[in-house]
Amino acid sequence: MKINRSIILPLTGMAAVSCNSAEDAMPNIIYVFPDQFRISSLAFWDSPEYEGVVGWKADPVHTPNLDGFAGESLVLSSAVSTCPLSSPHRGMLLTGMYPERNGVTLNCNSLRPASTLRPDATCISDVLDAAGYFCGYIGKLHAETPMKNNPDNPGHYVSDSNPEWDAYTPPERRHGFRYWYSYGTFDVHKNPHYWDTEGVRHDPHEYSVKHETDKAIEFLRNRNGERDADKPFFLMLAYNPPHSPYGSLDDCMEEDYSLYRDLDYSELYVRPNADTTLSKAPAARYYFANVTGVDREFGRLLAELKDLGLDRNTIVIFTSDHGETMCSHGTYDPKNSIYTESYCVPYMIRYPGRIRHRVDSTMLSTTDIMPTLLGLAGLEDMIPDSAEGLDLSPVFLENGRECIVPDATLYIRNLDGETGTDGKVHGIFPEARGVKTDRYTMEITITRDGQLSRVLLFDDWNDPYQMYSIPYDENPELFSGLCGLLAGKLEEADDIWYRKGILPDLMEQAGFPAPVPYGRNDNGQ
Ligand code: CA
Repeated sequence: MKINRSIILPLTGMAAVSCNSAEDAMPNIIYVFPDQFRISSLAFWDSPEYEGVVGWKADPVHTPNLDGFAGESLVLSSAVSTCPLSSPHRGMLLTGMYPERNGVTLNCNSLRPASTLRPDATCISDVLDAAGYFCGYIGKLHAETPMKNNPDNPGHYVSDSNPEWDAYTPPERRHGFRYWYSYGTFDVHKNPHYWDTEGVRHDPHEYSVKHETDKAIEFLRNRNGERDADKPFFLMLAYNPPHSPYGSLDDCMEEDYSLYRDLDYSELYVRPNADTTLSKAPAARYYFANVTGVDREFGRLLAELKDLGLDRNTIVIFTSDHGETMCSHGTYDPKNSIYTESYCVPYMIRYPGRIRHRVDSTMLSTTDIMPTLLGLAGLEDMIPDSAEGLDLSPVFLENGRECIVPDATLYIRNLDGETGTDGKVHGIFPEARGVKTDRYTMEITITRDGQLSRVLLFDDWNDPYQMYSIPYDENPELFSGLCGLLAGKLEEADDIWYRKGILPDLMEQAGFPAPVPYGRNDNGQ
């Protein structure tokens, strides 16, 4: 009973599913994931339908298109970003594998050459391409170490930055994506750049979210042969906003900023865990402006999809790679922590006729996304053995069969390991691991020499803003139970903490207690 401690759900949803020829066809898939878009930056959480679902207030954001989309979608309240940092998330998203297996253990830049997506890793786009899909990628990739392969200046990085963060991805590393309009990472929202399928650079000098939506609409319209019209398509759209910078009108559209300009901190910061004395505090107005910018452009994409008559047979997903703390918990670091603001992400899936609108508390980890998407597309037989997550599509689909659902989610935080004489990082320091159940969040941090450094332990039911860390040594039964869950997850993931026997006394003492009936409510709330 050490691993895969999970719950078998009964058959859900007995309603007949109407099957016409359109719905029998392989569905198109559009996967939209702005960077650093936190789960509370969706206005609908404060509406009556969602009362009591999450326990915290929505940010004071204007998100009418996302609110409407949620009303047509499966809304997950317990989706997490397993390693809430750009590159590790993207590696897991694409491969369904944990960072140590897919190669992306740290945020990619030229000083961390070891952290890069393995060229031989099987990505979701490799599988969909083989299954007859036409795959396209638009926006930020940030899953590879930069190489000296600038198409306009061979033998050099794409810029002279040190370290270099941005990257060009050549065709042989695109993993089945045959339409390409992307870059590595670059944070100037109104002056973005991209390399296209042929490796030609584009500098459109406009708001990146608008520009990328225009490109996505071109892809949908297909007037210039952007895609193979005889195939279903898979399009990933990776906006950079509302990621930083968020310090001036250079970073967002003024029409969006005007919605927040006159709000004071008591209106902008509705979370009681926010410290508005931090110098970061003015950022909220610009951050929320970009949330609204993303909302507007996402709405434009959905409208086009409908106008083209593609909406009925297209799965549309909206999520993010991780959240943003925005002054909560007194930290300047927006991500890479287990706090709800960083670790939990929005996740909405719209699939007309196959998935009904509801809120669902099934826990979705980043490694589950690839197998679940393949399952939604009816390609469960093509889920590669290398994928380490679960196919949760039966839970989400109307005619879902019995299915294993997770009882907890794993959390991973790695920092730079040893630096070599070449000044480059050659390993990881696995600073923290943690678990989240439907009620508790626990993070354990170690020192560089492997000793226990800190335990964060939150009761998310009674303390949804995680203002009070429960003393673990005064609650041995709770702590032991959570350590047991964590130990099971680490073993399941063959994590470095498991392989190297980090904190052996603590893990051994915890043992593997009998499972607590974690899981979702039958009514899906
Ligand atoms: Ca990111």
